[in-house]
Amino acid sequence: MSERWAVIVHGGAKTIPEARRERHRQGCLRAVEAGAEVLRSGGSAVDAVEAAVRALEDDPTFNAGRGSVTNADGEVECDAAIMDGSDLSVGGVAAVRTLRHPISVACSMLPERPVLLVADGAERFARDHGAEFCAPEDLIAPHDDDPGCDTVGCVALDVSGDIAAGTSTGGLRDCAPGRVGDSPLPGCGLYADSAIGGVSLSGEGESIIRTTLAARLIQALETDTPGPAIDHALAVLERVGGEAGLIVIDHRGRVDWGHNSDHFAVAHASRDEPARAFLQRSEDRRKT
Ligand code: ASP
Repeated sequence: MSERWAVIVHGGAKTIPEARRERHRQGCLRAVEAGAEVLRSGGSAVDAVEAAVRALEDDPTFNAGRGSVTNADGEVECDAAIMDGSDLSVGGVAAVRTLRHPISVACSMLPERPVLLVADGAERFARDHGAEFCAPEDLIAPHDDDPGCDTVGCVALDVSGDIAAGTSTGGLRDCAPGRVGDSPLPGCGLYADSAIGGVSLSGEGESIIRTTLAARLIQALETDTPGPAIDHALAVLERVGGEAGLIVIDHRGRVDWGHNSDHFAVAHASRDEPARAFLQRSEDRRKT
């Protein structure tokens, strides 16, 4: 056991209007504290990611869980996934409309063979596993002043050296019904391998999928520190265009993040650093 732990959360890559900035900072801080509490008491990276993402899903500031945007039919469809870097297990749900906490259903799928269940199949699985349900309307919050991307995510390293990553999203406003973005797809919106690191992304799902951006980032982390690995991934994204924000913890516990969007709400904490929140990478002077 190293006793070292770290956690980072994000609240989405986008332009955050002035009036909403403090809510983003506070929401990210609450979520990172929820994850840090699990890790401080010796809990697992998977449990920390679930706790942090549940806090973000509870906060209507963010487009995930409560606060989700609607598709072109005016309906909510949420996606979420979690990956356990200790054994490379993945659980994901997509196009779900009545799950109060999509991330928790994704966690319940970790021991199962399927990595991704969609729509009615995912909701049936959730029912069989005692998940919490709600009316679709309870997930929708007004975001009229907030048109950008804002998936939420978390990466955590626990004291045993295991890493987990998670994402949760209401998708893109006015997207085609049935559209699934990068968030529940391993290698696109998230990835975790305890031998290398963990990553969670937000941004334009189609661009992230076309560049398998989480996979590129993990691959870069095999030989690079997080900062250059993030720069490499953002350079790859330039081939297709699109906004993205990326959070990283590597197997040595180095925490970093980057984005090409105007803002990317992030908070991080570790055994050695108190929780702090930022809206742009340039505000965060740490060297990793
Ligand atoms: N990546 C998400 C998607 O395309 C959107 C976001 O990051 O807000 O579904």
